[in-house]
Amino acid sequence: MNESIEQRIDRLHAGGIVDMHFDLPMDLYEKRERENVLETEFLPEFEAGNIGVVGAAIYIEDRYLPDAGLRVALDQIARLYAEMETEKSRRFAICRNYRQIQAAQETGRIALLITMEGVEPLGTDLNQLRVFYELGVRSIGLTHARSNAAGHGGAFAPSGSSPEGLTSFGRELVRECERLGVIVDLAHINPAGFDEILSITTRPPIVSHTNVRRYYDIDRNISDEQIQMIGERHGVIGINSVLVSPREEESTMDGYIDHIEHVAELIGIDSVGIGFDFFEFIYCQWPESRQKELAAKFTTPHFIRDLRNHSQARNLTRRLIERGFSDEQTEKLLRENWMRIFKEIL
Ligand SMILES: [Zn+2]
Repeated sequence: MNESIEQRIDRLHAGGIVDMHFDLPMDLYEKRERENVLETEFLPEFEAGNIGVVGAAIYIEDRYLPDAGLRVALDQIARLYAEMETEKSRRFAICRNYRQIQAAQETGRIALLITMEGVEPLGTDLNQLRVFYELGVRSIGLTHARSNAAGHGGAFAPSGSSPEGLTSFGRELVRECERLGVIVDLAHINPAGFDEILSITTRPPIVSHTNVRRYYDIDRNISDEQIQMIGERHGVIGINSVLVSPREEESTMDGYIDHIEHVAELIGIDSVGIGFDFFEFIYCQWPESRQKELAAKFTTPHFIRDLRNHSQARNLTRRLIERGFSDEQTEKLLRENWMRIFKEIL
């Protein structure tokens, strides 16, 4: 067998990579005056990286809150569906369950799974969860960094997050997600909220996009103890590309893979996945004042030179191979672990 490394990547990518966190709907919303944004701006990168499933996250920026949160969230979903209609190549499908994701892949389409990062659009109304479920939302993280009616986000600092767990609304929401078959995503939740969600839920927990505190020690990231808790419940942790290290020089492809290895060493390769959180294309659209605001409020993101967008996913696989990951390990990491979660919950 004389398979080149590129042929080997082709083979490993044939089923499509699953990326559980991408801020797609908010960008479509900001570009709502235009048509075919998905096809012209995103499809080429998805295709180059062999992306098969994308967790498309509804997120509401501060400037829309509180009054316009619900409307902007609905508009973000509207833009996704509108883009499906205008898209000529029919390369995308909004999927609501495992069977639809499989069907999308069998017909050569990229599956979009609508997710929500922060439940501000729901206010304190459990009925709104039902509405968003009917619109296709299938994974929900209760908070981003800020506190809301459901709970509190983890601080972008080694300590200082709220010691409080979820609110009563947050607890009801988690129970209702479990009942409906919506994935509860632990990314961003503060440590107290993390414990409480695990005490309420019975299904395998996920953290769609995070990094390990061993290499970037902030409450927003995940501790070894938390990693163990996810492993015991056969959950999956998606590794984020933008918080690999507080130091720019350590924010590299190898640094990214170190996070993967750390989780795999603690709880096994069956519990690691991808949550790239590619964010540079949005960051670059911001004026410098807004970039500075992000740095002051949270942190300065360090983008990985050769893993900045979906078109570069092959660079990751190439480096995994060079570092000795087997085909089986690589396929689990890139795709199969998330697919197992979809099969179990959706
Ligand atoms: Zn996030």
